[in-house]
Amino acid sequence: MRLARGAPHRGRRHDRKVEKRDRSSLAGCGAMIVSLGLARRRVVVVGGGGVGTRRSRALVAEGANVLVVSPSASADIAAMASRGELEWHQRTVSRADIDDAWFVIATTDNPTVNASVALWCDEQRTWCVNSSDAEGTAVRVAAQSTHGDVAIGVVSHGAADPRRAVRIRDALGRVIDEGDIDVRHARAREGRVLLVGSGPGADDLITVRGMRALAEADVVVTDRLGATMLLDRLSPDVEIIDVGKSPDNHPVPQHEINDVLVDRAKKGLTVVRLKGGDPFVFGRGGEEVHACLEAGVLVEVIPGITSALSVPALAGIPVTQRGVAATVVIASGHAGPDATVRAALGAGATVVALMAVSKLEDFMVAAREAGAAPDTPVAIIERGSTVRERVIRATICDASRIADEMAVKPPAVIVIGRVALDGLLASEMAATSRP
Ligand code: SAH
Repeated sequence: MRLARGAPHRGRRHDRKVEKRDRSSLAGCGAMIVSLGLARRRVVVVGGGGVGTRRSRALVAEGANVLVVSPSASADIAAMASRGELEWHQRTVSRADIDDAWFVIATTDNPTVNASVALWCDEQRTWCVNSSDAEGTAVRVAAQSTHGDVAIGVVSHGAADPRRAVRIRDALGRVIDEGDIDVRHARAREGRVLLVGSGPGADDLITVRGMRALAEADVVVTDRLGATMLLDRLSPDVEIIDVGKSPDNHPVPQHEINDVLVDRAKKGLTVVRLKGGDPFVFGRGGEEVHACLEAGVLVEVIPGITSALSVPALAGIPVTQRGVAATVVIASGHAGPDATVRAALGAGATVVALMAVSKLEDFMVAAREAGAAPDTPVAIIERGSTVRERVIRATICDASRIADEMAVKPPAVIVIGRVALDGLLASEMAATSRP
């Protein structure tokens, strides 16, 4: 939790004039924004209503040692107490409750109670937020959010206006999350490798965490698939190494890719290995993680939206659907259909085949041999999520011929099974059965 600190109350023991002057200065300049690590520190929340609940939840999430004092409290507070996440004393507050507190939040619906709590805190030099005295309180909790290892907090020096602070925080947070500012580390730190799944191709199907990793990268090692247009947004001094395969350009061998990752990280750089879809779905991500571990290099995986599930979804094909298919097998088409794929095809499961364009006919023969109905639908989706997306519908009997006629080319996802029926979701087959 981050706090904004103003000039402390000093006037309690002086005359009212002094106190008044102090209070007016609190809302003006002179506050310092500090970050308080509250993990394992005693924090007392007085009052168990909406604000008390929200604050308690945030404090518990920060690992604080939270005591809620309130005769009644929300169901959430009661639940947190019963799970042992916080302590709840079900009674009115007394001065002894704040004895061990590092920080206190007075948030009852009774301003007199809140004022007493604030006064006790002043006297023992414990910072206290008084929710019913937003202008007078010396402490303001910032509207805050966390973005990787960066936190932002917004407070108003003037009259409290929490909604405005939240709006500003969200706008600033978006700038960070969308990778629009350079958040690369300025101080030397240990190099590391981040394996980032960039999703199927559209630049807004990468995760927020993946985007943040790109903004932190000193080096990006990329290939052909996925949201490669995101690279255009990187600062010109970010090194981009393309290890992508293309038909007329031999791929960089995997061990050389591993070496590049390890080598750059050992120089203290933050290396993003950007991959299409998810790094662990036919992405050789496991080998890259292994190479880093073996070399003693820090490595982290940031999952991505795999094309195996998302490309069908974007084409309106649910890979599972109640009453239609309850199992989905994701297969590499590289070596043709294996025994698992044959069994799945025979059992009516959905088979999603990647890298299978050149083996399409083998899959169709396997489906027929496994006993799938001749009209079993097949969908071939080329370049899903991009402007060049193309969806082709067929059955296991005519898919190869149609694919030839349409000159289907990789990358494409092939979906075999009843879920691939054109118009499935608009049909009765997708309706919720009535009791
Ligand atoms: N790790 C990736 C898959 C890598 S294997 C993922 O999780 O998506 C490469 C194969 O993925 C391609 O041959 C193709 O079958 C499939 N693929 C990836 N992106 C695709 C896209 N946008 N449209 C169709 N198929 C795609």
